[in-house]
Amino acid sequence: MNTTTQVPTVKLLIDGKLVESKTSQWRDIVNPATQEVLARVPFATPDEMNAAVASAKEAFKTWRKTPIGARARIFLKYQQLIRENMQELAAILTAEQGKTLPDAEGDVFRGLEVVEHASAIGNLQLGELANNVANGVDTYTLNQPLGVCAGITPFNFPAMIPLWMFPMAIATGNTFVLKPSEQDPMVTMRLAELAMEAGVPAGVLNVVHGGADVVNMICDHPDIKAVSFVGSTKVGTHVYNRATQNGKRAQCMMGAKNHAIIMPDANKEQTLNNLLGAAFGAAGQRCMALSVVILVGEAQKWVPELIEKTKTLKVNAGAEAGTDVGPVVSCAALDRISSLIATGEQEGATLALDGRNPQVAGYANGNFVGPTIFTNVSPEMSIYREEIFGPVLCIINAATMDEAIDIINANPNGNGTAIFTRSGASARRFQEDIDVGQVGINVPIPVPVPLFSFSGSRASKLGDLGPYGKQVVQFYTQTKTVTQRWFDEDETGSTVNTTITLK
Ligand code: NAD
Repeated sequence: MNTTTQVPTVKLLIDGKLVESKTSQWRDIVNPATQEVLARVPFATPDEMNAAVASAKEAFKTWRKTPIGARARIFLKYQQLIRENMQELAAILTAEQGKTLPDAEGDVFRGLEVVEHASAIGNLQLGELANNVANGVDTYTLNQPLGVCAGITPFNFPAMIPLWMFPMAIATGNTFVLKPSEQDPMVTMRLAELAMEAGVPAGVLNVVHGGADVVNMICDHPDIKAVSFVGSTKVGTHVYNRATQNGKRAQCMMGAKNHAIIMPDANKEQTLNNLLGAAFGAAGQRCMALSVVILVGEAQKWVPELIEKTKTLKVNAGAEAGTDVGPVVSCAALDRISSLIATGEQEGATLALDGRNPQVAGYANGNFVGPTIFTNVSPEMSIYREEIFGPVLCIINAATMDEAIDIINANPNGNGTAIFTRSGASARRFQEDIDVGQVGINVPIPVPVPLFSFSGSRASKLGDLGPYGKQVVQFYTQTKTVTQRWFDEDETGSTVNTTITLK
């Protein structure tokens, strides 16, 4: 914890106001390319946390009754404001997180798509009606908001993932308390400010900062009805258990180890280009990064070309034009990745390309690790079992597609996977037999657009319903069924009915 006072402080957003925290606990937000301290973020106190929830609870009383069209129009305005401020948002994001500027714009854009989706809430939050289920009886559903909902987000998509959460929660009539990653909360705060500017009323969106303590307060607070979490498997499992134990709904999108199968009939040039982007883009810090490639049969001969292509990727600060691979988020992340690479060598994998200690002119202090490739990887090795979350690709060989599918299905994670092939029959069999929630066919990072929901599975997810898309409307609403009959005033001859049947 650093307590210097010269750098700006990140504010809390409570009851529509940006407020300075009264905490004594602060953390530096550091530019990963330079180690410059950009700002300090507070770890909110219990009083501040309670104030945020109380404000959201109060605001819910009126927000839940706000007409759906009025809610939708705020998100129409919000998407416009995000577009107008795209470059500023991307610049903040790159400074605090490290990814390249074009990729930072992509991060904002993938969130913007959810905001656009939220503006269509009128079509999404429709109920059902069955006419005349018994004599003169109709049944219909109301999809009503839950109350105060909360979101806990990771460092790697500080724009997109907060935007997965609060726009859909608020559009469905809930109020929200967001806890962004303490590593890079500045772009999230700018997005919260723009949401206020778009017309989100005071108290409907609140932002508190902090780490484990604030997360635990969210899981325990009796006025919070639902928790959305995105982050590592260890923390997500803790959040799921603690929040559900306290009677809350929870959805936790967690860690991954995503495999691609390369069939020998795939288009080599296109496949290799796609693999490189998906393995090393964002310095491998994507939950949908392709971190394992399984080469089937003759495709094993492509390794030298894959390595040569990888060497052409430019490692540099994210703000520099032409950068392919920026720094990783922190010195701690760099140390962890470097030590996993060392372990990979010790455990017998072949370090075919070592990206450690790249020389980056002008950025001697940056957290850089260049693209790294291991061949001869086997499933018991640490580099295979652990999510490295860095630009490290593990290559495994398989004789057949069936063998490759067995390897993937034996891995506990189920976030994403892909196959590269020209065979429709192979692709279809893969789609049917693979036990992973998001499947790409010649698409390396198959994250669905918000017409669908993010659908990671197995160890990558806890909770039944995914973020955004139709599923999240269910997650953020309580279905109430109403069964109604209107008596005809002139009707006579009614009798007492002691059976359970509707007549
Ligand atoms: P993280 O789990 O360390 O942090 C996520 C959030 O949990 C942060 O807000 C953090 O403050 C909080 N937190 C951290 N430690 C905690 C603790 N001990 N108790 C309670 N709360 C705690 O994750 P990260 O390093 O920020 O993000 C990277 C991870 O997120 C990777 O595993 C990645 O795969 C995963 N991720 C998953 C998805 C997905 O959709 N499945 C998307 C993005 C990232």
